[in-house]
Amino acid sequence: MHVPRFWREIPNRYGLVGTRCGHCNRIFFPPRAICPNCRRVGQLEPYRLSGRGRIYSFTTVYSGPGDFREQIPYVLAIVELEEGPRVMAQLTDCQEEEVRIGDEVELVFRRIKEEGEEGIIHYGFKARLVRARPQPGA
Ligand SMILES: [Zn+2]
Repeated sequence: MHVPRFWREIPNRYGLVGTRCGHCNRIFFPPRAICPNCRRVGQLEPYRLSGRGRIYSFTTVYSGPGDFREQIPYVLAIVELEEGPRVMAQLTDCQEEEVRIGDEVELVFRRIKEEGEEGIIHYGFKARLVRARPQPGA
């Protein structure tokens, strides 16, 4: 697969960067190489996302593959970002009873999993509820 030069040049590991089409103004995440609307006339460029959005739907996961077993149960949500794209993310720092569709969330950079013997730690984005009320002890 051809990777556009701008994509390789962006230090995207710690930022939430998608692409924006300068022709139709739609924003995509994960980044795309071709705008599905405009095809050849599309002009895609990197676009930094705010990381804020709302819960579009969610489900609680009670069983799963080994990678996430230690975190069960966890809440998996589809987040609609304020720029439009929908992303799937694990919710962090909350109990499933607190979660409602439409809740405001922000994507945060967190440890996803740790691999056994090598101790390689994988990082990625998780979603955290943006609470209107301050939490006790916070
Ligand atoms: Zn387009």
